[in-house]
Amino acid sequence: MSNVTDNLNALRAAIAAAEKKYGREPGSVRLIAVSKQKPAADIALAWRAGQREFGENYLQEAVAKIRELADLDIVWHFIGALQSNKTRDVAMHFDWVHSVDRYKIAERLAKQRAEDAIPLNICLQINLHDEPTKAGIHPGQAALLAEQIHALPRIRLRGLMAIPEPVEDFDAQRRAFGELTALRDSLNAAGHDLDTLSMGMSGDMEAAIAAGATHIRIGTAIFGARG
Ligand SMILES: *Cc1c(COP(=O)(O)O)cnc(C)c1O
Repeated sequence: MSNVTDNLNALRAAIAAAEKKYGREPGSVRLIAVSKQKPAADIALAWRAGQREFGENYLQEAVAKIRELADLDIVWHFIGALQSNKTRDVAMHFDWVHSVDRYKIAERLAKQRAEDAIPLNICLQINLHDEPTKAGIHPGQAALLAEQIHALPRIRLRGLMAIPEPVEDFDAQRRAFGELTALRDSLNAAGHDLDTLSMGMSGDMEAAIAAGATHIRIGTAIFGARG
């Protein structure tokens, strides 16, 4: 067995244990394997071990791998920074985009998504604590942006994504993720139907699951450290 297979098996056990511990429905947390900076061969190994959802950050690198692995049934998630001149490739090649943080980007994705394709799934990236170096909108801007995006064709607003400040303390991690959950709940109370909370990485996935994550994005714990 490869490392990747061992790592995936260990991770699946850890996810199942966390679901149980925190009263989550078994299977309610989906694993996105973040394969940025890793070769297509590593993705193929994970695929053979049963992994079907993969996340990529860098468009050029991602599109090359998506083409190379076109024969495999993979759900591709774009989780990186998104400039407006890159939206066409994202709309064409991906199933999900987790990093939408302005209307203009969503509008372009909607226009560029093929009419005969399944709608592109969208998450709004939220900058929970106004970190200046981080992408995402202020939580207070989410309601308006959600409202605007909801009206666009060919894309479907599914939920929220965040990358909180890395901290060691479990309770602090859980509190930060809880803020994203509360924001999702308030949007749903206002009439949205958001079923997705994309939160939790290798270092804080347990706290994210405790707080209600539906999609965790894990790179290092599957593929090892990046160069
Ligand atoms: C790289 C990355 C991840 C994965 O991080 P790991 O710590 O390697 O698990 C998750 N989400 C985003 C947005 C990333 O850029």
